[in-house]
Amino acid sequence: MAERIRNFDWSRTPIGPIVEWPEALTVLVNNLLGTRLPMILMWGAELTHLYNDAVIPILDAARHPAALGERGEVVWREAWPISGPQIEAALHGEACWNEDQHVPIYRDGQLQDTWFTYSYSPARDAEGAIQGVLISFLDTSSRVGAARALQLERQRLLAAFQQAPAFFALLKGPEHVFELVNPMYLRLIGGRDVAGKPIGKALPEIVEQGYVDLLDRVFSTGEPFVGQGLRFTLEETDGLPREERYVDFVYQPLREADGSVSGILVFGVDLTHRIHSDTALKEQRDRFEFATDAAQIGYWFCDLPFDQLSWDVRVKEHFWLPPDAKVDIRLFYELLHPEDRERTREAIETSIARHTAYDIEYRSMAPDGRCKWIHAFGRTAYDADGGPLRFDGVTQDITQLKQTQGARQRAEEALIRAEKLALVGRLAATISHEINNPLESVTNLLYLLEQEATGDAAKMYCQTAQAELARVSHIVTHTLRFNRQGNVAGEESLSELLDSALAIYEARLRHSGITLRRDYRDAPRVCCFGAELRQVFANLIGNAFDATRGPGSLVLRTRRQNHGRTAEPGVRITIADTGHGIPPATKARLFEPFFTTKGDSGTGLGLWVSREILNKHHASIRLHSCTQPGRSGTVFSIWIPQASAGDPSAPAA
Ligand code: ADP
Ligand code: MG
Repeated sequence: MAERIRNFDWSRTPIGPIVEWPEALTVLVNNLLGTRLPMILMWGAELTHLYNDAVIPILDAARHPAALGERGEVVWREAWPISGPQIEAALHGEACWNEDQHVPIYRDGQLQDTWFTYSYSPARDAEGAIQGVLISFLDTSSRVGAARALQLERQRLLAAFQQAPAFFALLKGPEHVFELVNPMYLRLIGGRDVAGKPIGKALPEIVEQGYVDLLDRVFSTGEPFVGQGLRFTLEETDGLPREERYVDFVYQPLREADGSVSGILVFGVDLTHRIHSDTALKEQRDRFEFATDAAQIGYWFCDLPFDQLSWDVRVKEHFWLPPDAKVDIRLFYELLHPEDRERTREAIETSIARHTAYDIEYRSMAPDGRCKWIHAFGRTAYDADGGPLRFDGVTQDITQLKQTQGARQRAEEALIRAEKLALVGRLAATISHEINNPLESVTNLLYLLEQEATGDAAKMYCQTAQAELARVSHIVTHTLRFNRQGNVAGEESLSELLDSALAIYEARLRHSGITLRRDYRDAPRVCCFGAELRQVFANLIGNAFDATRGPGSLVLRTRRQNHGRTAEPGVRITIADTGHGIPPATKARLFEPFFTTKGDSGTGLGLWVSREILNKHHASIRLHSCTQPGRSGTVFSIWIPQASAGDPSAPAA
């Protein structure tokens, strides 16, 4: 620059040629050129611009060397709004000092952020008059810029931390004092006030949970710590509730320029929600599995239309299949009890077609014929257009339930039967008792009347009345009181019992036009409750009469006959009529109590009571009937074991 200044044509400037410069100016310029600090001198009326070598890099190629001898205002046009007033002040004797002043200037053709530390001092002539301004300065842009960038970076980081879906806290010093926490961290600690406090004081409960030891270790070793799925608890305090948290986090040591650890960054995510929902899910699944285990429920899934079926182990178990068995719809139907296949198919089709629940009980059959009762419950999932997508559901083994239900039902039925029988028995006993008393009176009165009667005709009427009355009392005692208490077993001839039953119908037989044939052969005496069997025979004979309108025949037959299977000795009794016969629908209900086709004249109890009595004798009853006109008729056939009411060799009670 000394060279340039010497060779410059200063005569074109207000300060004139060098030879004419005042001594003060020459001295100043020499000083300026002799220093390494960037210095500028603006001198004279137009503040003519002079500078040293150190200024060249700041001016850059666009301005240097044109800046020499130029007006200061022109050289520093872009900075003039800031420096102009200060230069003006210096011209009035007021020196100024600026540190890291932000003065953007053009560099590489662009206005750039630049910072300068500079001083403006008045430059005086020999007389002390201010002729210009001496400027010394330092470009501090790189330092200030870096610091600014760092600060900006920090701010951005801070903003990111504040908004982060993660928690962070800055702990300073060996005491781990909270310097900074973000909102997520505050949320993590349930809003406890920690700012400016050492962590051990702010959250005392975490000391014994080991977290402060961890921080101490990170601080002393400078090694980061990574924790995963760790739990910590904050105790209830100042109206803040107890908090239990699960976290993934990092303790990251923060180092100073010299490498020493000055603090710890705590950074992590709160997993509490997720762990809770995971736990809830697991609990739910556990409960579900427990319930299904307890109830022995199996699941099945299948995509529609039916192809492969997905069955879990238990459904396979319900169908007698091993756990690794492959299942399709064909196999499913095959494994069903043949009687249940069609209605199951219908139930599935109906459920899918009508959008209703599939709810059915069927039997699954093992190859050896054993069956399980299964309750299946399912439903169909449909697409948006209502097209069936999936058919899923559950199965439950209800075999045991069915068995206990069946047993209970049978027990109930037996109870009802016994009750009814007892009721009928009591009713009959009451009736016979009520009838007996007046019957006895009438018998006695008839006897007295006979004694008093004078005419033969009168005497004969009395005797006939007495005979009829005797039959009535016979019926009352032997028929109605079949269930009377104190009924004892004894050796009886079934043929005789048949005859005595027939006696009840003597009059009817006489007027009916029915031919009677008795075919008693070879029948042994049987240990039985005679009165009760007589009741059975009377019922059957009565029914035969009822069924036979007009002429017909009635056959009573007894035969010695051993049991077909056990060869147990016994007697077969046959009662056959040529009546109208029994149509199949009636046949099915014959032995039901109160079932009668005779309207008001029937009780519907005859066959029902008969079967009860026969059961008691371990006897069996069966029938054949034909309703075809011309050859209609009914045959009741009874087989009674010889020792039907106990050991025949034992003395009758
Ligand atoms: P009831 O005689 O009071 O009707 P039963 O139990 O004795 O009651 O008989 C029930 C039904 O069985 C009768 O109503 C009748 O329809 C039918 N029945 C029983 N025995 C015969 C028979 N020998 N011939 C035709 N029908 C009969
Ligand atoms: Mg009857």
